[in-house]
Order: sequence, then structure tokens, then C-alpha cells
Amino acid sequence: MIIVLQKEATAIQLDDIVNRIKRYGLEPHVIVGVARTVIGLVGDKNGLEPSYFEGLPGVEKAVPIMAPYKLTSRDAKVEDSIIQIGDVIIGGDQIVYLAGPCAIESREQITETAYAVRAAGASILRGGAFKPRTSPYSFQGLGEQGLEYLAEAGQAAGMPTISEVINPSDVELVSQYVDILQIGARNMQNFSLLRQVGHAHKPVMLKRGLSATIEEWLMAAEYIMSEGNYQVVLCERGIRTFETATRNTLDVGAIALARQLTHLPVIADPSHATGRSELVVPVGCAAIAAGAQGVMVEVHPNPDTALSDGAQSLTPSQFAEMIVACERIAGAVASDTADDWRKRNVG
Ligand code: PEP
Ligand code: MN
Repeated sequence: MIIVLQKEATAIQLDDIVNRIKRYGLEPHVIVGVARTVIGLVGDKNGLEPSYFEGLPGVEKAVPIMAPYKLTSRDAKVEDSIIQIGDVIIGGDQIVYLAGPCAIESREQITETAYAVRAAGASILRGGAFKPRTSPYSFQGLGEQGLEYLAEAGQAAGMPTISEVINPSDVELVSQYVDILQIGARNMQNFSLLRQVGHAHKPVMLKRGLSATIEEWLMAAEYIMSEGNYQVVLCERGIRTFETATRNTLDVGAIALARQLTHLPVIADPSHATGRSELVVPVGCAAIAAGAQGVMVEVHPNPDTALSDGAQSLTPSQFAEMIVACERIAGAVASDTADDWRKRNVG
């Protein structure tokens, strides 16, 4: 059930409702929106009915949520959620670009990439330190040393950072170095990991599993939110299909549908979706046309020598060209007028 507060509800009224819920032995989830605040009440309601709340001061309405995911649902929060890291906004009017190498290989490599992607227009630096490789014999990442290099490079270039955490016991460690915790596709249903990042005080980017349905993906987000971390970004990164010409198949429809079903920001990863650098730009553009609010792209100063995912990595100059192409699409689908867009982008 979602309890929607009146726009003019006071902090005292909110406290009163929260305390009543707690007295019933239930856990209230208070989600503060720009327009209004809602309280999510999930799980067993101990006999509490919507009508009980509708009689309380400050409450506009109380509605049951039919979807299996509750806090994640658009029914819980009508307006888009915005996640802010410093002056970077995910889920706002501007497309956010996350870029960097698949794996951090050295201090020089991540630093050089950071400056290059920053200059091209990226606002968040990515880099893997704990790599979930298909083969145990492939490069597994630099671990904590890699996180140190990433944090240093992000700070030097003035960019927040994102890196994957693959082990519940590493969540605290990775949180000390990065601004956003990434949950990889292979771990989308690692429920103990999801619960653990649900306790972290950092935004989480949740990639869709290789064979996960949209509902399973949203339920995975629900795991994180149900632990109290509401800063979740969804990332469509391609799913397994019969097609082998591309590494995965970007599910463009899932992006459009997720934007409708949830208030959480939705971004796309055209690098892992295609596996081929020459397809990254058009597929990234398609994702934005479908409603993606950001793209995460693998960029390497020298893709031919990359220790992982070189075939899908863009050079910094290809990435700069990608941003130009993506911004054209973003301007075309934005709700502002063509004139606004021209002013924003051309001056
Ligand atoms: C990654 O982004 O580094 C990665 C491993 O991607 P995915 O989990 O989508 O395969
Ligand atoms: Mn990769």
C-alpha cells in the first residue's frame, strides 16, 4: 500500500503516521518527492486497511499497489526520481554519460581515460576493479588497488566514479572508493548482494540480468529499496537471444516500458549490448530515442591492447563523436522545443 500525503502535509503529520505504522510492528518507507511525499507499506499489513490512513490528517489517499514490485512502481511515485551526485544529475533533463574502460589496468590508463572522456563530455567515470569474467583464467581486475587508481583519476578529472561490486562482503570496501555501486548483470539476482547494497549509503546502478524478465529486474530493484536505499538506477545492457552476431540484444522496448513502470532512472549500456565498437553509437542513439536517460560506454585509450572487452571499446575520439550523435537524438525526443534545444546545444 502507498500512502500519499497532501502537498501541504507537515513534518509533524508525517511523524505521526510513521509512528502509527511502527506501533503496528510494520516498516514504513518514506519517499520524499519534489511534488509530494509518499509512505510505502510493504509486506504483511497486520490488518491495516487504506481507509484507516485516509482518515488521518495530512493524508490525501492510501492505495494498494497491484504490481509485485511496490516501492519501485510508478504507482508509488508518479514523478521521475532524480539521483544527484555532486553536481551530476541522473534522471533529470540532460542525458548523463558514464564512460571509462571495462577494467582498470593501471594508474596511467585510468587517468588518461578520465581526462579524455571528461573532455568529450562524460560526467561519470567507470572502471572495473572486481571483474566477473566468464573464464577463471581471464584478467580478474586489480581489486582494491584498481579502486584506488579509479578514485584518484576521478578526483583529478573532477568526476564521480562507478565500479562493480561482486561480493556482499566487499560492499563496504567498494563504497569507500566509489560514488556509485554497480551490480552487474550476472549478479542481478544475487539477493544477499542486493540486500547488502540496500544498506549502503551510495546510489546503486542495477544492470538487467542476461536472461531476466523486466519484472524480475524491477523486483531486484525492489530488494535494494526494501532495505532502505532508494537511490537505484536501472541499466538495460542487452539480453540473451538466439542471435549470435551481436554479443547480446539491446531490449529497446524494455527501456520504454521501464520508464513507464517505474519512477527510477533508466540508462543503457550499448557496449555490452552489442559487443562491437562499430555498433555502439547507433545502438546508444536508439536507447536514447526509446527514453534512456543516460548511456554507459566502454572507452579505452587503445582498445587493441585492452585486457578486457577491447572489441566493444570506443577510442576517446569515437566517444566524443558519439556524444554529438546522442545529443542530436536527445534534442529530438526532448519535451522542449527545437528552439530550446538549439539554444542549449548550439548557442
Ligand atoms: C561491466 O559493465 O563491466 C559488466 C561486466 O557488464 P555486465 O554486468 O552488463 O556484463
Ligand atoms: Mn566490459
